[in-house]
Amino acid sequence: MKIVYDRSKCKLHAQCRGAAPELFSFADDGSLVVLDENPPEELREALQDAVDACPEQAISIKD
Ligand code: SF4
Repeated sequence: MKIVYDRSKCKLHAQCRGAAPELFSFADDGSLVVLDENPPEELREALQDAVDACPEQAISIKD
């Protein structure tokens, strides 16, 4: 599975990091960093929680 992240939609709310800190972090300049674009299957639930939590629909999952 692959994380599809649309930076142009992201408003940096950070709900994604709250839901999946293994997959999302913030750089020193405040921008969101996807830590693993091809996460292992065991992180699917956390990733789905991050997708659901994002108010901007900036993240999706591609299988
Ligand atoms: S929750 Fe969505 S809008 Fe907010 S930082 Fe994460 S990807 Fe960006």
